[in-house]
Amino acid sequence: MENEISGKTRLAGLYALPARHSFSPIMHTTAFQATGVDAVYLSFDVQPGRLGESIQAIRDLEMLGVNLSMPHKMEAVKHMDELSQAARLIGAINTIVNQDGKLIGHITDGIGCMESLKQNKIDIIGKRMTILGAGGAATAIITQAAIDGVAAIDVFNIKDDFYQKIEPKLAMIAEETNCQIQLHDLADEKQLADALATSSLLVNATNIGMAPNIDQMPIPDEKVLRKDLPVFDVIYHPGETKLLKAAKATGATAVNGLGMLLFQGAAAFKLWTGKEMPVDQIQPLLENEIKK
Ligand code: NDP
Repeated sequence: MENEISGKTRLAGLYALPARHSFSPIMHTTAFQATGVDAVYLSFDVQPGRLGESIQAIRDLEMLGVNLSMPHKMEAVKHMDELSQAARLIGAINTIVNQDGKLIGHITDGIGCMESLKQNKIDIIGKRMTILGAGGAATAIITQAAIDGVAAIDVFNIKDDFYQKIEPKLAMIAEETNCQIQLHDLADEKQLADALATSSLLVNATNIGMAPNIDQMPIPDEKVLRKDLPVFDVIYHPGETKLLKAAKATGATAVNGLGMLLFQGAAAFKLWTGKEMPVDQIQPLLENEIKK
């Protein structure tokens, strides 16, 4: 049933630069219609110098809230009245909820990943996992996994300037959550093989394997993969990376990043509306959009 726009229709949106390529408007507007929420979702190109004013507009225009993407995820934190535990630990947000003028910052990417694992019957709570990459997506996953009760996480990143910067942040997340988190050099093949030997999950959170570089793999040797090592790749384009193909060939569960994208949106939707997003209806729309 189509909702009619009225004087009471509320606004949600995406603040990013660029924002116009996003799948979020179709995802949320469809979900608003399906659940009878009188709201629309639009994407806005927000210049970095205008972020503060754009966030103030959420209060002034009584918006439900917004999602944030690059380059605003970290800068927006300082404009919040309150932060979720994950947002505080990470120092970044992708969702703002307007609670009667009080703005609360959340990060739902990690929630999306954990929910996608659950949907694929991958149980990692109380166990050990290995993650490749320590950037934005990786940090969100590491933090949510630690909050949710994953026992130990081995993180592998290239040993560049960023490596030194991420080390104290991972130490802080480990301390607050009681999860053992260790950072290693991605080039250390023996360390990677050792970590994977005791891991119940491998996550790729690097860009390696993403279109157009679809022939690349983030691991040096397929031999470290095995049937009882599920693999989750944050990449959703292509739908099956070279890493996921190799994992599947061993008989392991192989999951792409589409579910993470879907469930991070569902988590934001629930924060704004209190309702479950009809994910079965939204997933084919996303699959279609990605193919375009
Ligand atoms: P970032 O730039 O923040 O992080 C990228 C990570 O990959 C860093 O750890 C980076 O290391 C590493 N990396 C990049 N290139 C290489 C390379 N050639 N060799 C080894 N490591 C490399 O990006 P994001 O975390 O935002 O995004 C990463 C991926 O996750 C993208 O493919 C993105 O599309 C996907 N993503 C998926 C989401 C979903 O919902 N499914 C949500 C968000 C992102 P360093 O920084 O040291 O260079």
